[in-house]
Amino acid sequence: MAGILDGKGIAAKIKEELKTEIQQWKESNIQPCLAVILTGDDPASVYYAKAKQKVCENLGMEYRFINLPGDTGEEEILRKIGELNGDTTVHGIMVELPLPKHINSKKVAASILPEKDVDGVHPVNRGAILSGDEGLFPATPQSCIELLLRSGVQIEGKHVVIVGRGETVGKPLVFMILKYNATVSICHSKTPDLSAFTRQADILIVAAGRPKLVKADMVKPGTIVVDAGINETEQGMCGDVDFEEVQEIARLISPVPGGVGSLTTTLLLKNVLKGLAIQQKLSK
Ligand code: NAP
Repeated sequence: MAGILDGKGIAAKIKEELKTEIQQWKESNIQPCLAVILTGDDPASVYYAKAKQKVCENLGMEYRFINLPGDTGEEEILRKIGELNGDTTVHGIMVELPLPKHINSKKVAASILPEKDVDGVHPVNRGAILSGDEGLFPATPQSCIELLLRSGVQIEGKHVVIVGRGETVGKPLVFMILKYNATVSICHSKTPDLSAFTRQADILIVAAGRPKLVKADMVKPGTIVVDAGINETEQGMCGDVDFEEVQEIARLISPVPGGVGSLTTTLLLKNVLKGLAIQQKLSK
C-alpha cells in the first residue's frame, strides 16, 4: 500500500513559514497585500476567491477582493489592473479564470505588472520559466514539485512522465521540473498508447482533467504518483488517477482532495511575498 504525499500537512508547514515572513514585512512597516479580481459569479471561482480570503486572514496578509459584474468590458478590467499596478500598497494581483468569453484573457494577463503577477501568467514570467531567470511561476506546477521535495523525493535523474500539456499545469511543469535534472516525457490526448509512457515513469504527474484516467495497469510498481486533477463527479470530488486502484501498487501517491490542491493557495501567497521582495529590489 502506497504512502501518502500529504499536501495538507506540507501546506500547514509552509503557512507557518509565511506567517513569520509576513510578520517580518509588517515590522518594516509593509503590509503584504493580495488583490483578486473576479469578473462575474462563476461558482467555482467564487469558492476559490473565498478560500484565498480565509488563508490571507489566517496568515495576516491583506486581501482585496474586486468583484466586477459579468458584463464588464475589457477596457474596464484593464483600467482596474492599471490602477492596482500603480498602487504601491498592493503586491500581488490575480485575475480569476475563466474570464467571460468577450474578454481576451491573454491581453489581461499581459497587462499585469510582471512583479505583481502572482499567478505566473504574464509572458515575461512564462519566458522566465524557460530562461531560468528570476520570476513568478504558477502555483499548481510548483505545488507538484513542492509535494515531492518536501516529502523527501529525489527528482534528479528520475524519469518524470507528465500527462497533460495544459497552460496552467502540464506545460509550465515541463521546464520547472527539468531544472531539477529530471528526464521529462510529456503526454497529451494525441499520444498513442498512453500506458506505454506512463508505465516507464519513476514519477508520474497527471494533470489531464479526466476523472480516474490513470488505472493500476498503467503504472509501474513502486512509482511515485502526483495527481493534480480536480474533477467534480456525481460521486464527489476525484482526481485524474484512480486512487483506490493505484495506491495498491504505487510507492507514494497524492490524494484528491488533500494533495496538490491543498498547496496551491498557500504557494500563491508565497508568490505575493516573492513579488514583494522583487518590487522592493526594483524600487531601490
Ligand atoms: P487543460 O488545459 O484542459 O489540459 C488538459 C490536458 O490533458 C491537455 O493537454 C489534454 O491534451 C490532456 N488530456 C486530456 N485527456 C487526455 C487523455 N485521455 N490522455 C492524455 N492526455 C489527455 O487542463 P489544466 O488546466 O492543465 O488542468 C488539468 C487538471 O488540473 C484539471 O483536472 C484541473 O482541474 C486541475 N487543476 C488543479 C489545480 C489545483 O489547484 N490542484 C489547479 C489548476 C488545474 P491536449 O492538449 O491534446 O488537448
